[in-house]
Amino acid sequence: MPTKILTIGEILVEIVATTKGDGFLEAQPLTGPYPSGAPAIFIDQVGKLGAACAIISRVGDDDFGTLNLRRLVADGVDTNGIAIAPGESTGSAFVRYREDGSRRFVFNIAHSACGRLEKTQAAADLIHECSHLHLMGSALAAPGMRALALHALQHIKARGGSVSFDPNLRRELLGAPGLHEALQQTLTATDIFLPSGDELYLFTTAQNESDAIAELLARGIKEILLKRGEQGASHYSADGRLDAAPIAVREDDPTGAGDSFGGAYIALRLNGHDAASALRYANAAGARAVTRIGPMEGTSTLAELDALLIAHKNN
Ligand code: ATP
Ligand code: MG
Repeated sequence: MPTKILTIGEILVEIVATTKGDGFLEAQPLTGPYPSGAPAIFIDQVGKLGAACAIISRVGDDDFGTLNLRRLVADGVDTNGIAIAPGESTGSAFVRYREDGSRRFVFNIAHSACGRLEKTQAAADLIHECSHLHLMGSALAAPGMRALALHALQHIKARGGSVSFDPNLRRELLGAPGLHEALQQTLTATDIFLPSGDELYLFTTAQNESDAIAELLARGIKEILLKRGEQGASHYSADGRLDAAPIAVREDDPTGAGDSFGGAYIALRLNGHDAASALRYANAAGARAVTRIGPMEGTSTLAELDALLIAHKNN
């Protein structure tokens, strides 16, 4: 089976407040729309690295959908699995940063076009064709996307394919009904797990990092990538621990760093790189992502990652 990476989930535009503060209870100056959606950012990064890849999603026949489709096509992503729903609206997210760097989101996902994802013929063909599935917790939170995501999970695993999983759980999504069971089902099928920070503890009662890692590896997960934001990242497997020191960059917009990190890691790891090399590039992809305003604006080509790594020789 030739390597082709599939993801399923939300496509959105992101609109960013240019002021810092708490939420959207007053009028704010805004910038955007930017192409977004965690699975979309992930797969855009995979495509930019030249790996074969596709996304199953759904957009409205509006400018927000067209903007996303054009970007994904330009960056090498197979968009045949993106249905265009006449008369419906493409998803959106408004984000505003607080002074301490934390974020407040207003989401329109579950009731947007992508919230009503269906198993089209194009989607079925991609599920049959792809060798690897990457799932994100955000896509498992909406019932429409969840059903198709879990169907693809079973199908691709049964055919001997592999699965990666980034919980990517925003506070605003945690209470979604049925989410917990879907996350457990996904983790059980996961080969490569990519939590950030405290997401490491979502599926364990362990009190510290090494116990949590040991428990997850014992469940059959082969690789764990722990994303540590401005502190870099670590890779754990049966062979032990590898660390990537953070690359010193100016953080202008952290949204999308984790998705870019994941896209780079999966694209390279599944196309011949060893874990150390894929981790080094993924760490660079995450660092480069935060230097650009707009979640998908900071995805990188291999030449851009090489240039960043050369400029920071110790990494
Ligand atoms: P998001 O869900 O917002 O896309 P995340 O929380 O999943 O992000 P982070 O841990 O914030 O993921 O970032 C992913 C990776 O990107 C980090 O592990 C690190 O390699 C890199 N990174 C992120 N922020 C910085 C930074 N300020 N400086 C250098 N590298 C960074
Ligand atoms: Mg994340």
